[in-house]
Amino acid sequence: MAGSKFAYVKKFELPDALLPNMFMVFRLDGHSFHRFSDEHEFVKPNDVRALRLMDHAAKSVLEAYSDIGLAFGESDEYSFLLRKSTTLYNRRESKIVSTLTSLFTSNYVFHWPTYFPDVPLRYPPSFDGRIVLYPSQREVRDYFAWRQADTHINNLYNTVFWALVQQGGQTTTEAHATLRGTVSKDKHEILFSHFGMNYDKIDPRYRKGSVFVRIETPEAPEVTTEATSSQPSEGIPKKAKKGKVPTTLELLHCDLIRDDFWEKYAHLLD
Ligand code: ATP
Ligand code: ATP
Ligand code: MG
Ligand code: MG
Ligand code: MG
Ligand code: MG
Ligand code: MG
Repeated sequence: MAGSKFAYVKKFELPDALLPNMFMVFRLDGHSFHRFSDEHEFVKPNDVRALRLMDHAAKSVLEAYSDIGLAFGESDEYSFLLRKSTTLYNRRESKIVSTLTSLFTSNYVFHWPTYFPDVPLRYPPSFDGRIVLYPSQREVRDYFAWRQADTHINNLYNTVFWALVQQGGQTTTEAHATLRGTVSKDKHEILFSHFGMNYDKIDPRYRKGSVFVRIETPEAPEVTTEATSSQPSEGIPKKAKKGKVPTTLELLHCDLIRDDFWEKYAHLLD
């Protein structure tokens, strides 16, 4: 260990290990994406290119960290659930938050041209990140229900709002005024009677957000071949690394609030 007379300053760093045996939810959110989406010509209310780019960046994080089993994305945010027994970076909070936020952000920028080939980045986007600990499965379920309920409320509002502006010819001020005091039923009614839109028929990606689940895949049976170790292993099913169960990631746009999801993917709350 380096032993200069200056090394004592290291001792000023505070330990920040997160409590053991608690679920960790890591959430990041685009910084000032109201402006970022304006300056990069996002289609309103939902720019599918931007949502797919968010999904891609999230998938890169899931691929890099096998202790994340579930992720949920909407708008400019993504939430990731880490196993409660994870020992990632010795559970150091700032290490986890900063590393994951930066990996997501660099992937967002790296893959930007794939999703926005005609829109050059005008300035580098950034994301904030945080971790919240939850003691039991109940809070974890309620957390994801909370985010998905938020997706629903925002998307219903934005869908009617932009229909009033883009198809109804209202100004944004008028559209806000039209919607003031309306409840969910009124918004469905405006959409249906004025614009012939059935809200429930809108793409589930917009209504439900994006859900990544990690699923254990049964290991492919070992294949005996004449291949020597020096030959490329093309066509031969890869064996998982020792002690690691092979997994795949599935992208869904499904309900996270009812019991069905949690019964089907019960292993996510282990
Ligand atoms: P990590 O980057 O793995 O999250 P870290 O930032 O503590 O952890 P490094 O970035 O590898 O570790 O190293 C920071 C520097 O601090 C290193 O050059 C190392 O020599 C020095 N250092 C780390 N721990 C101590 C210590 N206990 N006493 C003195 N110097 C240390
Ligand atoms: P903050 O820095 O506090 O998060 P913000 O401007 O990012 O501020 P948010 O509440 O995070 O505010 O909202 C993000 C905004 O980004 C949305 O309100 C919306 O205007 C825009 N936005 C994000 N994703 C999309 C998308 N896929 N399509 C259209 N607009 C989007
Ligand atoms: Mg915000
Ligand atoms: Mg934001
Ligand atoms: Mg947001
Ligand atoms: Mg370091
Ligand atoms: Mg270093």
